[in-house]
Amino acid sequence: MNPGVSRRTFVGAAVAAGASVKSRAQNGSRAAGSLAYDVAIVGSGVFGAWTARHLLSRGLRVALIDKYGPGSSRASSGGETRVIRMGYGSQEIYTRMSWDSLTQWKNLERATGERLFTETGMVFLARGKDELTNDSLAMLNKVGIPHERLERADLVARYPQIDFGPITWALSEPRSGALFARRAVQTVVREFQKAGGEFILGQADAPSTDAAVTSIKVGERTVRATNFVFACGPWLGKIFPDVLGDRIFPTRQEVFYFGVPPGDDRFGPPKMPTWIDFGAEIYGIPDLETRGFKCAIDKHGPKFDPDSGERLVTAESTAMVKSFVAERFPALKNAPIVGSEVCQYENSSNGDFLIDRHPKHSNVWLVGGGSGHGFKHGPALGAYVADRITKGGATDAKFSLATKEKVQARVVH
Ligand SMILES: Cc1cc2nc3c(=O)[nH]c(=O)nc-3n(C[C@H](O)[C@H](O)[C@H](O)COP(=O)(O)OP(=O)(O)OC[C@H]3O[C@@H](n4cnc5c(N)ncnc54)[C@H](O)[C@@H]3O)c2cc1C
Repeated sequence: MNPGVSRRTFVGAAVAAGASVKSRAQNGSRAAGSLAYDVAIVGSGVFGAWTARHLLSRGLRVALIDKYGPGSSRASSGGETRVIRMGYGSQEIYTRMSWDSLTQWKNLERATGERLFTETGMVFLARGKDELTNDSLAMLNKVGIPHERLERADLVARYPQIDFGPITWALSEPRSGALFARRAVQTVVREFQKAGGEFILGQADAPSTDAAVTSIKVGERTVRATNFVFACGPWLGKIFPDVLGDRIFPTRQEVFYFGVPPGDDRFGPPKMPTWIDFGAEIYGIPDLETRGFKCAIDKHGPKFDPDSGERLVTAESTAMVKSFVAERFPALKNAPIVGSEVCQYENSSNGDFLIDRHPKHSNVWLVGGGSGHGFKHGPALGAYVADRITKGGATDAKFSLATKEKVQARVVH
């Protein structure tokens, strides 16, 4: 438990306003159809799940609510794998959050025995001056994260199965790799439940009042709490149309898995790293658990509805990715697609996360804007939100609602 937070002390806005908070042990309230908590979190994606875990570990009574279940195929946290890397150009905050998160992911892996992370290494493929990758290199130096600059000749010698085409150099992070997305989120939620947290399957409504929020409806149930967190990813704009309807931009993203040739180990670790080519807006993860060689499009796709959108890849993207793979990985020229996923990014205007209080309700938190790079940060972000709720204090301007514009201009990559 955080030393600054006892089971009975709770420095949230609602407390300041006089609302009472009961400890986990005290709070046994179970009037028919009505449940009461210190914090109710709507959304058990990676952001909500880690926030719940951290709040629970601070001794609070926490409910985690999700309408489809953790890491569902509709959630941005669903699917097989996610990249975890430290390079973020000059954005120090994300480099540090990712490094901190990697430790937390590994600790969870150790504690549960679940395979959550594979250290494949991460290679940022660069062309010429490449300011972003140069800035990343400088930042990794500053923060003290292991890395290596690879020249073209090094790349060719190390990865003979790749045709580097226009790539002239690369930044390599040997400690980075891939997280098993759905499994990781479900593990966080399972551990949360084992530790005494409550998971509720149901659809929550937004607060229906302009006055102080003391409860929300989840289906037929009323969930009472002192603080509320809406970590609803791409749904945030639907739930809070006035505040976020034009500030969260869900985009359709396509992911492909290619079958590797029989008996060929060149497309899995340790021979193949996770890689990204920001210039081509494409990235990939090696063949893990025999799922196939993953190649995905980072360029933002069209607007997408996370509830009703069909998740079938398009012929256009298929042709584009096939052609990229054939050129960059010649041995996969005729490799079949053995799987695909359609997911959605839940972009903020510039890629910065959203962590702020609702403008009308100081005990309602809006958490999201993962913007295609949020998964890896779940552990550090969850701790950050838990700190704001239990200790108070302003959030970083970067994460504030005020900095979320209505027009997209991507800055964080
Ligand atoms: C294809 C793809 C590739 C990506 N690649 C990477 C990567 O390589 N590395 C990386 O770090 N990040 C990556 N990301 C981004 C990352 O996955 C997301 O930023 C992150 O998962 C967002 O998590 P979240 O918890 O905010 O949202 P979600 O995971 O979408 O969770 C929101 C949850 O809220 C629930 N919900 C919504 N409304 C309600 C309601 N009214 N009542 C109850 N429940 C509700 C939903 O069911 C859902 O489970 C990628 C994303 C995609 C789609």
